[in-house]
Amino acid sequence: MSVRQGRRGSFLTEEEKANSPKITKSLLKRIASYLKPFIKQLSLIVLIIGISSSLKILPSLLTGKIIDDGLIKRDLDTLIFLIGLSVGVTLLGNLIGLVESYLNTWVSENITFNMRNQMYRKLQSMSHRFFTTNNQGDIITRMTSDISGVKQVISGTFTSILSNVITLIVASVAMFQKNWILALVGLVIVPLFAIPTRSAGKTRWTLTNEVQKTSDEINGILNETLSVSGQLLVKLFNRHDYEINKYEKTNKKMISLHLKQSLAGRWFRVLISTFSSIGPMLIYLVGGILMMQVDSTLTVGDITVLVTLLSRMYQPVNSLLNTQVEVIRSMALFSRIFGYLDMQVEVENKIDAIVPKSFSGNIRFENVSFAYDESRNILDNVTFELKSGKSVAIVGPSGAGKSTIINLILRLYDTTSGSILFEENNVRDLDLKFIRDHIGLVTQDTYLFNSTILDNLLYANSKATMEMIVDACKKANIHDFIESLPEKYNSVVGNRGLKLSGGEKQRLSIARVLLKDPTVVIFDEATSSLDSIAENLIQEAIAPMIQEKTSIVIAHRLSTILAADEILVIEKGRIVERGQHLELLQKDGLYTQLYETQFKTSEKVD
Ligand code: ATP
Repeated sequence: MSVRQGRRGSFLTEEEKANSPKITKSLLKRIASYLKPFIKQLSLIVLIIGISSSLKILPSLLTGKIIDDGLIKRDLDTLIFLIGLSVGVTLLGNLIGLVESYLNTWVSENITFNMRNQMYRKLQSMSHRFFTTNNQGDIITRMTSDISGVKQVISGTFTSILSNVITLIVASVAMFQKNWILALVGLVIVPLFAIPTRSAGKTRWTLTNEVQKTSDEINGILNETLSVSGQLLVKLFNRHDYEINKYEKTNKKMISLHLKQSLAGRWFRVLISTFSSIGPMLIYLVGGILMMQVDSTLTVGDITVLVTLLSRMYQPVNSLLNTQVEVIRSMALFSRIFGYLDMQVEVENKIDAIVPKSFSGNIRFENVSFAYDESRNILDNVTFELKSGKSVAIVGPSGAGKSTIINLILRLYDTTSGSILFEENNVRDLDLKFIRDHIGLVTQDTYLFNSTILDNLLYANSKATMEMIVDACKKANIHDFIESLPEKYNSVVGNRGLKLSGGEKQRLSIARVLLKDPTVVIFDEATSSLDSIAENLIQEAIAPMIQEKTSIVIAHRLSTILAADEILVIEKGRIVERGQHLELLQKDGLYTQLYETQFKTSEKVD
C-alpha cells in the first residue's frame, strides 16, 4: 500500500482513535484550574441559571391553571391575572437571562484572556527550531481559533449543559407532582433519543475533526501564498495556476465536509422531531383514558401542563445529547492547547543562569560539533577564539556551516558536543537575555516591522534619544536618505520593510545594531550584489564597526576580509584553513580558490 493510499484509507480511523481525547482526571483538574479564579462569578452564574431555568418552567405550569381556572370556569379576572403572571414570569426569566449572559461573557473572556496570554508567552519562549519547523498557519490557528473555541465552550457548552440539566430536573419534578403515570409515559420516550444520537455523535466527531484539519490546511495555504515572500515566489515561478488549483481542491474538500456535516445533523433531526411528536400524543391518549375512566380528578389543564412540560424537555434533551459531541470536541480543544503549553522548550534558560558583571567580548569555540538533526553533522570539531576587541572573518562555500556558527553563538541551538565559552562561562550556563544583550546581529535578510523608521530603530533600544538615533543613522549612512523622505523618521517602512531597498534596509539594520550598542557585533554580509554606491555606503558603515568592536563577519567581500584579524575558512563544517589574507594565499588551498572566484572580483581594492 502506498503512503498516499495509507493516508486516505486508514487515515481517518487511525486519526480518530489517536485524537479521541481521553477525559482523564488530570485533564479535568487542569481545566478546572482555569475556572478556579472565577469561582465566585461562576457560582453566581449557576445560581442565576437555576433561577431563570425554573422561571421558564413556571409559565408551563400556569397554562394548566389558565385552562382549568380561567377558561373552563369562565373566570375572566383569574384568566387575566394568570396571563399577566405568566408573561411577567417569562419577562423576569429573560431579564435574569440577560444578566447571566453578560456574566457568562465576562467570565469566558477573562479565562480565554489568561489562556491566550499564557499561550503567547509560551510561544515567545519557544526555541528557534520550533519556528523553523512548524507551519505558521498551524501556530496561528492554535492562537486564534482554538482559543476562541475554548471561549465558546465556556460561554456556550458549559452553561447550556447546566441550564438544560436544571430545566430537565425542574420539569421532571413538576411532571411527577402532577401525575406520575403520565410523567412516566412521557419520559419513556426520552431515552429513545439516545439511539440516533450515539451514532450521529460519532460521525459528527469524525467530521468535526476533519473540518478542523482542512481548515488548518487552508490557513496554511493562505499564510504561505499570500505572504509577501510567498506571493513573490508564486509570481516568479508562474505558479498561480498550481496554487489556485491546490486552494480550490482544499476548498472543495471543505464544501464536501460541510455538506456531510449538515447531512449528519439532518437525518438526526428528522428522527428527533418524529420522536418528539409521539410523546405528546401518548400523553393525550393515556391522559384521556385516565381522565375518562380512572381518575376523575385529572383535569384538561393537568394534561395540557404535562404535554407542555414534556415539549419543554425535548429541547434540553436534544441539546444535551448534542453536547456529548461538543464536550468531546471541547476536551480535544483543551488537550490540544495543553499539548502546546506543555511543549518542551529546547533551549531553556537555567533557573540559576549566570549573569556576569562584565563581558569584554571574548568568545571561544572548543571542539564544537553540531547537527540540526541526527541525519548529518553540520559542524565538526570547530575550535577558534574571538578575542576582545578583535575581529574574525568566516569564509567558505555556501552551506559550509557559517551561519550555523552564528546560530550557536546566539544560543538559538545547543551544541551537540564541545563547548562555547563567553570568557570562562559556558553559554549553556549563561542567562539567555545576557547573551542576546551582548550580541548584535546584522543579517542578510533584514526584518523590519511594518511601522515607522523611528519605531523600528527604537526596537533596539527603547530609551534611545533622538540625538542617539540620528548619530547611529549617520554612522550607518542612512540619515541623509531618511531626511530626504517626506515623513522623515516617521515614514512607514511597509510590510517587512519592503518599501525600502535592500541596501537601505541593511543600513537601517546597521543603525539598529549601533543603537543597541552590543559588546560583539556579528555581520552576515549579503551575498546579493548591490550596486557599487549602495555597497560603498554599507562598507563605510561597517568598517568602523569591525575596527572598533569585537566582531565576527561572515564575509563575502575582500575589504571586510582584509579588515579582520583572523580569517577562518570553513568547508563542510570544518575549519580547513586559518590565518591572515597573505598567509592563506600562500597555502594555495580553498581560500585561494575562493579569492580567485569570489573575493577578487567582489570589488576593486586600492
Ligand atoms: P550560506 O553561505 O549559503 O548562507 P552557510 O555556510 O551559512 O551557507 P548554514 O546556513 O550554516 O550554511 O547551513 C549549513 C548546513 O546546515 C546547510 O547544509 C543547511 O542545509 C543546513 N541547515 C541550515 N539550517 C538548518 C535547519 N534549521 N535545519 C536543518 N538543517 C539546516
